Amino acid sequence: MELRVHRLESEILADDLHYDGDLGALYTPRATLFRVWAPTASSMSLVLYKSGRGGEPVAVHSMRPDVAGTWVFRLPGDCHGIYYNYLVTVNGETHEVVDPYARAVGVNGERGMVVDLRRTNPEGWDALRKPEYVRFTDAVIYELHIRDLTVHKTSGIRHKGKFLGLTERGTRGPGGVSTGLDHLKELGVTHVHLLPVFDFCTVDEADTKTPQYNWGYDPLHYNVPEGSYATDPFDGSVRIRELKEMVKTLNENGIRVVMDVVYNHTFHSVDSHLNRLVPGYYYRSDWTGNFSNGSGCGNELASERSMVRKLIVDSVVYWAREYKIDGFRFDLMGLHDIETMRAVRRALDEVDPSILLYGEGWTGGLSPLPDHEKAVKVHVAQMPGIAVFNDDLRDGIKGAVFDAPVPGFVNGASGCEETVKAGIVGAIYHPQVRFERVRYTKHPWAAEPYQSVNYAESHDNLTLWDKLEATSGQEPEKERIKMQKLSLALLLTSQGIPFLQAGMDFLRTKFGDDNSYRSPDRVNAIDWERKARYFHVFEYTRGLIALRKGHPAFRLGSAEAIRRHLRFLDMPRDKMVGYMLFDHAGGDPWERIVVLFNANPHLQWVDLPGEGWVAVVDGERAGTERLWDVHRDTVAVPARSALVLVDKESFEAA
Ligand code: CA
Repeated sequence: MELRVHRLESEILADDLHYDGDLGALYTPRATLFRVWAPTASSMSLVLYKSGRGGEPVAVHSMRPDVAGTWVFRLPGDCHGIYYNYLVTVNGETHEVVDPYARAVGVNGERGMVVDLRRTNPEGWDALRKPEYVRFTDAVIYELHIRDLTVHKTSGIRHKGKFLGLTERGTRGPGGVSTGLDHLKELGVTHVHLLPVFDFCTVDEADTKTPQYNWGYDPLHYNVPEGSYATDPFDGSVRIRELKEMVKTLNENGIRVVMDVVYNHTFHSVDSHLNRLVPGYYYRSDWTGNFSNGSGCGNELASERSMVRKLIVDSVVYWAREYKIDGFRFDLMGLHDIETMRAVRRALDEVDPSILLYGEGWTGGLSPLPDHEKAVKVHVAQMPGIAVFNDDLRDGIKGAVFDAPVPGFVNGASGCEETVKAGIVGAIYHPQVRFERVRYTKHPWAAEPYQSVNYAESHDNLTLWDKLEATSGQEPEKERIKMQKLSLALLLTSQGIPFLQAGMDFLRTKFGDDNSYRSPDRVNAIDWERKARYFHVFEYTRGLIALRKGHPAFRLGSAEAIRRHLRFLDMPRDKMVGYMLFDHAGGDPWERIVVLFNANPHLQWVDLPGEGWVAVVDGERAGTERLWDVHRDTVAVPARSALVLVDKESFEAA
């Protein structure tokens, strides 16, 4: 039997009816032009309202069919603040839908709103200057959820759970520790990565009193900010202005902003706005004609179809231009086709080539998209300018995410050395790494080191601290803290792009909850009391970030440079990895740097290449300052710790 992707009549039609121009409510002060692509509709009307919810329509206008399957209506006058929907008749059925290109919506995204975007710009927006940043490997990413970072009673933040909470300066928590924006600055990360801030479905924006929680992987409108993060979810302009205010404040404080985007599925399926507008076109189906479910969420967008690809590219470019977003993280990127991801990269390069682009290089289930077309991890070398999460390193460091009691390198497992080494080189080819022993992917999959996003925890699954509890709960807390610090040292010295989940720097716990997507604040909120209690872990993380930012040897720009300047050293036993960066790698003022990791529960002596070394990182402290000297050509690496040594001569000359 021949298995193939079911090809819909509407898809065949659409191939001839690609529309290349602007869609949506196109505002000018003199008139607004509404243009919507609906090639299978038999009639279309524009319905106008005074507000985003309730009340009868103030007018209904028939739209006129125009070029390439689009329908248009021109409404004269200054239409800013008018709410609207479309009435679409297709296959004899009529539905009211929200414009997929809506740039503003009312509460809960029930209606679109015409918006004069210039009125939403905060003061100084046009003159905003981006923080200095040269190469992808210079990024240090910190993943956070707007509500988690601001909502805890210890945060000292006034706008709890809101975009504006991240614009407050000088906020303090227990013991006087900095929180929110000041915390991000103090830590020294270059990019914050926000869990979804586009308009998602499952938080009732109209109920501003009851605490509600969702990560936001349930897309409703792709080109509009989420209303529950705004101080007023009813006025379509407010959420736009406040998100821009947040981007502006973060940028002004030296931090770039990455958005988590979820174009692989929508919350609704058959009854979604997209499917009612052009039935069957936007989603993949299996050979029986039913929606396929490669996302695990009930549907998957057919990115390979020309107007779906356009929707994705247009949306990303819109966020980059209108909101000055500095990076995008694609959820389940493996569900998109390679060509679409290349098109996204090309379009972003025209806006700003320094925009980061990375994603999950896997799918959430079986998809009819042919394997060779999927934008998965093993195809990332075919996608220059795009990175993927390194799940080999993630599970190599701490053990498998779906098997809580199973440990990895830092918590005592054997046989993780090659996986750790592959992570250290950023998943590129290196002659000393035996990829056949790497955890999942048995060959080097990155063409360049920036294609590997190195991490040990993210919002999904257990936090690292909870995982260490699951694997090593019998060990005293001080031993598990050593494991956490060893993980941080590994991530922040490895080649590629390091990625931390917010609070990892002070042992974040979700109390063992491994899927907290709708768990209450008491699970998800960041408790700033922990920053005060585990301040030495925070300082250690901050020191590692300062080391990385201060020394280009740890963020080499090319695979070739890594092969030329990084050599693994022989270790006296297993559960250890060590290497040397040499010959002023990346133009580093330090000539030779030795990095050693010992995951054994006891001290190990290691032979060094020569005498005369200065330690800048050990198990207790980290940074760029001299901690102590090694006079001989051997050094003791304490149990469960990292050591970074610099040759004394160039250290003192630098
Ligand atoms: Ca919403």
